[in-house]
Amino acid sequence: MMETNEYESGLNMLEELTTNAQQIQDQLMGEILSRNAGTEYLRRFLHGQADKQLFKKNVPIVSYEDIKPYIDRIANGEASSDVLSAETFIGTGTSGGQPKLIPVTAESANRMTMFNALRWSLVLKHVGDIDEAGKRMELMFAKPEVETPCGLKASAVSTRVFKGSSFRAILPKLYTSPFETIFCPDTKQSMYCQLLFGLMQRDEVFMIGSIFASTILRSIKFFENNWQELCSNIRTGQLSDWITDSGCRNAAASIMKPNSDLADLIENICQCKSWDGIIRKLWPKTKYIGAICTGAMMQYTAELEFYCGGLPLVSGFYGCSEGANGINLEPLCKPSDVSYTFLPNAVYYEFIPIEEESVEMKSNDKDTEPVDLVNVKPGRCYELLVTSSIGLYRYKVGDVLMVTGFHNNTPQFQFVGRQNVSLGVDVERTSESDILKAVTEAKILLDQLGLILTEYTSYGDTSSTPGHYVIFWELKAKEGNNGKELDPKVMEACCSRIEDSLHFTYRMYRKENIIAALEIRIVKQGTFEALMDYFVSRGASLSQYKTPICIKPKEALKILDSRVIAKFFSHKAPTI
Ligand code: AMP
Repeated sequence: MMETNEYESGLNMLEELTTNAQQIQDQLMGEILSRNAGTEYLRRFLHGQADKQLFKKNVPIVSYEDIKPYIDRIANGEASSDVLSAETFIGTGTSGGQPKLIPVTAESANRMTMFNALRWSLVLKHVGDIDEAGKRMELMFAKPEVETPCGLKASAVSTRVFKGSSFRAILPKLYTSPFETIFCPDTKQSMYCQLLFGLMQRDEVFMIGSIFASTILRSIKFFENNWQELCSNIRTGQLSDWITDSGCRNAAASIMKPNSDLADLIENICQCKSWDGIIRKLWPKTKYIGAICTGAMMQYTAELEFYCGGLPLVSGFYGCSEGANGINLEPLCKPSDVSYTFLPNAVYYEFIPIEEESVEMKSNDKDTEPVDLVNVKPGRCYELLVTSSIGLYRYKVGDVLMVTGFHNNTPQFQFVGRQNVSLGVDVERTSESDILKAVTEAKILLDQLGLILTEYTSYGDTSSTPGHYVIFWELKAKEGNNGKELDPKVMEACCSRIEDSLHFTYRMYRKENIIAALEIRIVKQGTFEALMDYFVSRGASLSQYKTPICIKPKEALKILDSRVIAKFFSHKAPTI
């Protein structure tokens, strides 16, 4: 736990960083260039000079595919100091749904730890009276390392943090999950054991969390299916036989003992008719839920709020495998109001102005020159570029952000969506944030059916002409639903509401029959879990997993299509 002076120095550090953003960014750029100007990549553009103006003039803006050949060379055994960056080795990232190799440095995991400490200072400032002896029940899943062709081991950024010595030192005192359960390669065994340990220490838990909100909801669903067995294990002090992982079994053996009082108590809570506020009942000292609830995670907040019984949902940070970027200075604000204040000391940021309303979220032709961190304008949207010592130079992360204000001299951003995620069946393009907005409008209609939308994704079906948008929905009955069924009229109205909420070009194309009627396909419960299993089996990190808003791989589509239980179409063209 952080001492008071440590917590204050965290807050002071934040003030210092945000006040001196420009100087810190300039200094950082100087350091990156002087260390790496001799690499093959930068030599091509800077001819050995560590000059910021030349950097801006000559170094191209790139996407992952552009630098992949360089990353592959390092993965194949070439020294990174010759190719991309002085200190780089290889790690993995998953943004965009596809696993990929990315450069990392030993420093990047340490920076993440520093970042976490700053977040923690803010939580202490805002949440206040946290029990000194309390624990965090964070659901964490390490991902097995990937071996590159030359035998280098690459792991996800979350896994590198879990492995780090500073994290391991604080784990037993501050977290309910033992190390072995986080590193258990079987995610079901891992989740079962992490829930079990969390229940056994329920009186100490002051925070429940995961990186992304979807992981907490998955764990609640898993708990719904397994609470009887968990209680029986607590009653007998014995772990179920199907938990075969030796690490989990050893961890359990060291602390499990029969506890029928606790088992009775949990059983009573779970047998309640309503699971409204169940998290608060099971872990009564919990002060907040810590998980990213913004962007694509926003869809999970309604359901999470139901289980949390009024606990604040704290979206603490905005980051990615390529760098930790922003921190939420107002952790108690509503997910829809969250802005992230960028920290200028780890990554050099640039921002490409874009038109938010532009159909394709394309860069605005008139004004595409990237601007520096301190020069962004409130109310405008930008695509994020990062340059850092890991060997990424003017690299598009793929996220679109909107400036909401400044803290001292540092801008604050709301997450808008992923840039390269788009749905399209003709020449029109619909961005992630467009889909998100339209589905948010339509799902309000489900209230009258006593249903909640728990997960969704989309797909551009071009198997017939004209093509049409397909939105897959997984639904759940609200408490007190009393068996109300899917009413075709309401479902058709949902399809129309989505169409009405989409952008002008979509509506126009639809009216002119260049795009056919939008379809909602209802899938069985558990479908999105199967989808996640598929992506995890292909290398995605469970801790960092986010359901793709737009589905591309054929196999993923098969998983969804094989579980469809109803289909509905819009019956009228949208209004223009
Ligand atoms: P990964 O590199 O796999 O960990 O994924 C990083 C991506 O997750 C980012 O580029 C964003 O698209 C998304 N992400 C991370 N943090 C947030 C956040 N606070 N709000 C919304 N999306 C986020």
